[in-house]
Amino acid sequence: MARTVLPMPEVSQIDVTRHFTRLSQRNMSIDTTMYPLGSCTMKYNPRVNEDAARLPGFAMLHPLQDAATAQGALALMYSLQEWLAEISGFTATSIQPAAGAQGEFTGILMMRAYHAARGDHKRTRMLIPDSAHGTNPASSAMAGLTVVEIPSDSRGNVDLATLKATLSDDVCGLMITNPNTLGMFEEHIQEVVALVHAAGGLVYGDGANMNALLGIAKPGEIGFDVIHYNLHKTFSTPHGGGGPGSGPVACNDKLADFLPGPIVERIGSEKEAHYAWKTPAHSIGRMRAFHGNFGMHVRAYTYIRVHGEDGLRAVSQNAVLNANYVQARIRQMNLLPLPNGERFCMHEVCAQGKIDGAPSITALDVSKRLMDYGFHPPTNYFPLPKIVPESLLIEPTETESMQMLDRFIDALRQIVDEARTQPELLKNAPHNVEMRRLDEVKAARELVLCCVI
Ligand SMILES: *Cc1c(COP(=O)(O)O)cnc(C)c1O
Repeated sequence: MARTVLPMPEVSQIDVTRHFTRLSQRNMSIDTTMYPLGSCTMKYNPRVNEDAARLPGFAMLHPLQDAATAQGALALMYSLQEWLAEISGFTATSIQPAAGAQGEFTGILMMRAYHAARGDHKRTRMLIPDSAHGTNPASSAMAGLTVVEIPSDSRGNVDLATLKATLSDDVCGLMITNPNTLGMFEEHIQEVVALVHAAGGLVYGDGANMNALLGIAKPGEIGFDVIHYNLHKTFSTPHGGGGPGSGPVACNDKLADFLPGPIVERIGSEKEAHYAWKTPAHSIGRMRAFHGNFGMHVRAYTYIRVHGEDGLRAVSQNAVLNANYVQARIRQMNLLPLPNGERFCMHEVCAQGKIDGAPSITALDVSKRLMDYGFHPPTNYFPLPKIVPESLLIEPTETESMQMLDRFIDALRQIVDEARTQPELLKNAPHNVEMRRLDEVKAARELVLCCVI
């Protein structure tokens, strides 16, 4: 078809502006409300990051440009590689992967390549705790490994007895999230790491949620071999509709040669440096075209520079403080059950949408009613029901004030009262938002991506 006859819609600028502005207002977002979506770390995205990403020298670069003409961009990427290695206690980083799950896939391919390079070809099993994010087993399976699930114990830690019984010389490694998705720090993490290493396996850390650890604990020093970061969680680059993401991988010397390339190398002293692309000796290859999501690198770089070492530590301290404040108030007011409430939580707190005196109420009902009070719901049904029935994973992040946390608790208190006296209010919620309760199964099966306005 000739381009002149393409059926392009004829709409005026004001109609387009109104359409998109109206759509944006229908969405709940971190710019309009607290968004305590556990594990997803929906923190405020500072606007200075956006200013930096829009600087013409960054925004107008072409990915095929010769490195000699993009030295500033390479210098920024080099610094980001170095800082991410420093923050996690590792020696090398690739910032190429485009998301957390792709970072996982990258790290697992590196683990496989490491074993293969040593002629150890029988390591085909990946051990994954049952509290893991769903992407962990998916990435392992995609990399051709057999997934073996390890149960959690009653304190929310990896069950050590099962781990010991499962380790053997066919284990590629263990993939673990710490703090785990119950918001708990693994109490035996060093023992877990030592056991896996003794069996010849490697330890993968899912670092999507580094928000509890910045400046406090380093996975590399704990003994992990490789992690991925989610820049779009921990380092405040926008996600959830505002993406794209970025999932850098950091590792120790054992795995550094296998990183995807190219990565940026500095030649010469800091003062007279120039920067060039280098592909590691036994690289698993490219994970993505060009150099990853560079706009996200600029935003994360800006976030780290603005905060500095003390600022990053304060981020984690306040994220953990906020989550514990929410946990303490839920416990004090006896609002919802807290499966691990006797322990301090890390950056998120796991509660249950079960209310005494309101047997029909589910986590989903509580979440939908929270929308009427102007809050984005917490994460529902993750951790999985077999670990925590009716889970509500609440991650306030460090960017919410105490007043906002009190308003959230107050909304929860009112919802618990309503559940006992007018349960249908919750059952039919939400009432005050753009869309009523959706049939999620139908929405997924009969996907309609456009509508007539
Ligand atoms: C978000 C998340 C991931 C996946 O990250 P994506 O960027 O969505 O692919 C993996 N693990 C954990 C623990 C997460 O919270």
